[in-house]
Amino acid sequence: MFEYAPAPESRSVVDLKPTYGLFIDGKFVDPSDGGSFKSVNPATEEVLAEIAEAGSGDVDRAVRAARRAYEKVWGPMPGRDRAKYLYRIARIIQERSRELAVLESLDNGKPIKESRDVDLPLVAAHFFYYAGWADKLPYAGFGPNPAPVGVAAQVIPWNFPLLMLAWKIAPALAGGNTVVLKPAETTPLTALLFAEICQQADLPPGVVNIVTGAGETGRTLVEHPGVDKVAFTGSTEVGRAIARSVAGTRKKLTLELGGKAANIVFDDAPVDQAVEGIVNGIFFNQGHVCCAGSRLLVQESVADRVLEALKRRMAQLRLGDPLDKNTDIGAINSAAQLARIKELSDAGSAEGAERWSPPCELPDRGFWFAPTIFTGVTQAHRIAREEIFGPVLSVLTFRTPAEAVEKANNTPYGLSAGIWTDKGSRILWMADRLRAGVVWANTFNKFDPTSPFGGYKESGYGREGGRHGLEAYLNV
Ligand code: NAD
Ligand code: MN
Repeated sequence: MFEYAPAPESRSVVDLKPTYGLFIDGKFVDPSDGGSFKSVNPATEEVLAEIAEAGSGDVDRAVRAARRAYEKVWGPMPGRDRAKYLYRIARIIQERSRELAVLESLDNGKPIKESRDVDLPLVAAHFFYYAGWADKLPYAGFGPNPAPVGVAAQVIPWNFPLLMLAWKIAPALAGGNTVVLKPAETTPLTALLFAEICQQADLPPGVVNIVTGAGETGRTLVEHPGVDKVAFTGSTEVGRAIARSVAGTRKKLTLELGGKAANIVFDDAPVDQAVEGIVNGIFFNQGHVCCAGSRLLVQESVADRVLEALKRRMAQLRLGDPLDKNTDIGAINSAAQLARIKELSDAGSAEGAERWSPPCELPDRGFWFAPTIFTGVTQAHRIAREEIFGPVLSVLTFRTPAEAVEKANNTPYGLSAGIWTDKGSRILWMADRLRAGVVWANTFNKFDPTSPFGGYKESGYGREGGRHGLEAYLNV
């Protein structure tokens, strides 16, 4: 084992205010009824800031501001001019990426090496990519003159706060739409810093509005009659409620919901490479990933070898301070999420699966969960069927490719899957049969703004990213 000296990233690059207002019509304003909530650092339980809670009057103000900006400024603006703003935002994000990464890790609990090396580069890349589309919409394959949809209501989760914001806002703005976005209640801070970046970029007031609050604020926003399009990422349960409330209205809807992805390892896969992919698939971002490879399907003939190597690798994972540059596993985002992970893991043991974690010391304060695997899992177990959304891997075995396909598809979800094999023909054969929106081959959790992302079945509908991601924001 190596001894690591602490290598903390500096907190002082972030200038936190004690309180934050709502960002409406280009300005930070107080909520009309004065409600507020706290956002905490999940690694320490320290309160980071007091955040305004938007009531229905505030949501209404934000939607009206977005409507005005859409009709008077942003909708009629030539695409090449919209592109200039988007490029400017992308460049400011790059310039301020260290600050944004530290703030993301403080508010969310994710390791700084992930917010710095994955989240922030992808956030900037999304803005650059869609900036490039803004003046080329007639060539996107949706007809000669695609028109914007109007005002978009966007509700996002806490697992990739700024990246989900980028996935939502960049294509909307490129298409000529204006937005009202509600970040998750446990991770509002980077969205509020993004609002400052919109000011810095001189984005016309009302084009981007950020309303903070919890589920009730989100519900008020998606149900507002002045909204033309709803985009939601989060739990399947809330997605269902939103689909019901939008049904029968003229609003367009895209939903990006949960997942229970199979990561499938064949006996001809290079074991060490596959183990890296398994670790990345389930322990990246503490497993708070909708496309996490949370079900490992390993071919029976190599199961012992793969599991032995996986356990050896898991013993090297460093859990702790998210701001330490050597940290692999940070904090669980909230007490509520930790309780859910514990409840499902306990159900795994109670139903007869065998639980294993490496020796791992958890800090005294904050919300933590050791990386965990369950072996002897059957398809009937809750831990094989339900999304845990934490650093917990369920291991199942299979003998033939057909059995792997059947087990992989035996889920109400269909967001992603992984295949590890030496044979290109087998990758194609499998990919044809897996009912998943994204299939990775000999890699996992790879994202790119040019590539569409989205689900089958209860993982939702619509695509984000790529040329396809424009369709949701255009009248085609
Ligand atoms: P959630 O669906 O409750 O919250 C997601 C967002 O929706 C948040 O901004 C929340 O404030 C908002 N919201 C809640 N109720 C709403 C409503 N009725 N109308 C409109 N907006 C509403 O998710 P959660 O409680 O944070 O997590 C619960 C589970 O969801 C997790 O355990 C996980 O399984 C899943 N999840 C999936 C993703 C994903 O990326 N697909 C992300 C986060 C959570
Ligand atoms: Mn927080």
